[in-house]
Amino acid sequence: MRLFRSIENARPQSGVIELRHDGETYRVQLRRVDTARRFILRVRGATRDAVLTMPRRASLKDAAEFAERNAAWVGVRLRRLPQQVGFVDGVVFPLRGAPTRIVHAPGARGVVWLTAGETGEQKLYVAGDGAHIDRRLRDWLKTQARIELVAAVGHYAQTIGKSMPPITLKDTTTRWGSCSASGALNFSWRLILAPTDVLKYLAAHEVCHLVHMNHSARFWKLCRSICPETDAAEAWLKAHGLDLYRYGAKRVGGATRPVTF
Ligand SMILES: [Zn+2]
Repeated sequence: MRLFRSIENARPQSGVIELRHDGETYRVQLRRVDTARRFILRVRGATRDAVLTMPRRASLKDAAEFAERNAAWVGVRLRRLPQQVGFVDGVVFPLRGAPTRIVHAPGARGVVWLTAGETGEQKLYVAGDGAHIDRRLRDWLKTQARIELVAAVGHYAQTIGKSMPPITLKDTTTRWGSCSASGALNFSWRLILAPTDVLKYLAAHEVCHLVHMNHSARFWKLCRSICPETDAAEAWLKAHGLDLYRYGAKRVGGATRPVTF
């Protein structure tokens, strides 16, 4: 028993390897998976790192050697990812799917405000110290996301005869939205960057989980009946969803391409 435990301790279920190649350092998250038959390495766009899935009995030494052999591949894949864009003065990012330029207005009153631009590009003014643009803008975007998600969830919940569920906003990288067993809904605040139909669809999707806690044919039938944009929004998320993680200061942690549950 004790021996068994010490072997288990020597084989942690997860961990991180730092991979050095061509002057760059890459983070590789280790995931031990009971059903894995071999090493599988993949690069994650949302978190800009790599994950190495390992068979249960594989040694950390073999895992590290496998990662080392594939370091060049990891580097190429990470460099191919679209560049990250911070929330700073002059940057253009999508707000409700529309190109929006950040304009720092240090002397102005008010915190954040939006104006329509003459050329179709909206301008989002951010007052105060330039060092706080990122935080101030995130707070504003989260507030906007909350207002719109509360409205959309309220609408769809009423449509199917459910009471308003509690809503939490997070900066998730694994899911755009989720529904807990107790009926609380979670959403990524980054949905405010996507076209409004996509945000509304996510609200409808999670509300439908209040009826069906699965992705059965009945679930999709209900979702499409209350939200005709369901298929178009799913297609949009598959094609462009990862791009929403480029904006704002870099964050670490989480998993692969976000999906809805
Ligand atoms: Zn779902």
